[in-house]
Amino acid sequence: MLQRVQVAAKPLSDYTHICSRDLLEEIRALAEPLRGARVAHLSATAFGGGVSEILYTLIPLLVDVGIECEWQVIYGREEFFNVTKLLHNALQGAETELTDEQWEIWLRYNEMNARELAGGFDVCVIHDPQPAAMRALAPEKAAGWLWRCHIDLSTPQQAALERLLPYIRDYPQTLFHHADFVPPGMRGKVNIVPPAIDPLAPKNMALAPSEAAYVCEQLGIDSGRPLLCQVSRFDPWKDPLGVIDAYRIVKQGRPDLQLALVGSMASDDPEGWELFNQTLAHADGDRDIHILNNFNNVGAIEVNAFQTRSEVIVQKSLREGFGLTVTEAMWKARPVIGGAVGGIPLQIEDGHSGFLVSSKEQCAERVQTLLSDPELGRQLGSAAKERVRERFLTPRLLRDHLRIMTDLLGGAHSGKAVAP
Ligand code: UDP
Repeated sequence: MLQRVQVAAKPLSDYTHICSRDLLEEIRALAEPLRGARVAHLSATAFGGGVSEILYTLIPLLVDVGIECEWQVIYGREEFFNVTKLLHNALQGAETELTDEQWEIWLRYNEMNARELAGGFDVCVIHDPQPAAMRALAPEKAAGWLWRCHIDLSTPQQAALERLLPYIRDYPQTLFHHADFVPPGMRGKVNIVPPAIDPLAPKNMALAPSEAAYVCEQLGIDSGRPLLCQVSRFDPWKDPLGVIDAYRIVKQGRPDLQLALVGSMASDDPEGWELFNQTLAHADGDRDIHILNNFNNVGAIEVNAFQTRSEVIVQKSLREGFGLTVTEAMWKARPVIGGAVGGIPLQIEDGHSGFLVSSKEQCAERVQTLLSDPELGRQLGSAAKERVRERFLTPRLLRDHLRIMTDLLGGAHSGKAVAP
């Protein structure tokens, strides 16, 4: 049996003051005929990264509106996660090739997981490439299948994509963040659905500036001096070394500047520690560079505090599926400087709700501008918050999932209630 992830309860009614009444009514109307439908979400990990962040909110809300929804994590050993990390990188365009043997490992673990998956689901939602072959290997286990892609597939290594394509193209429905990420040759229905954040989660709830400053002080940040921050896994695509370089350029004119690199370690990310150590080495003992991770007790509240407290937030990614860290910081009305890649330009409108950059020099220049013009930072921050409120909060994502499930099941499911 696959491991089931326990999630907290979340009533949709808690979102009444944040979302429009129309949206909440649409959600309830869509959910009614789906009441009792059995739905499983499958992902590679329950810790670290955007997928787990989304599922910890989406699953309880689906349950609250009457879906029998559960989240299961696939089984894998280090050999599997080493391969899936390579695959992830190749699909995002890295110059890596997977050997036949590595593809065989990927398929073998998919077979094992497909065998272990209990059957009888109305819908199985498969997240990302790690378990993507499960549908092809055990189609009988669910009436309907969705593949949810969270990564930036805009410039993949063709060889890797071609090898993956036979396993993803026949899903009856797929979900991508961005039209540019949809590979040619998909045969099912493609939905463009950006992800979302939970405004009520501890990571995103409103923290008073003094509380945020207090939490950051405990982790070594001087409250009297400006702070630049990037929250990200230690992943080469997030370019932590480039962030340090940009900080160093700004530091020449602003010696009081501090930098925080906050990055959790995911259990399916063997590369993470290597880059963490490289980042430490690149910081070269600078006492104003704070490199923190979940092993320093940095959890959701601490991430919230850093995002709330920082004068400027950066997300200097070189590839990015969406970048929930951008959404989170925008929701806190912070000025955010993001790499002009993947899902980041979906969120930041350059010069209006943040800045988009394509090099460390440009990043440094924007940081300088924002540090010397706090009023500009406030304007960008408040436009950013409105943009997230309109587009990127979880109830909208819940609505989109319900619409797609309705479409997929065509009104028929095996649950307790019978669709009209
Ligand atoms: N995150 C966290 N602690 C960290 C680093 C990241 O909680 O130290 C969270 C972050 O707040 C965000 C998610 O992990 O919610 C990362 O999602 P994103 O889409 O930005 O990137 P991914 O890791 O999925 O590539």
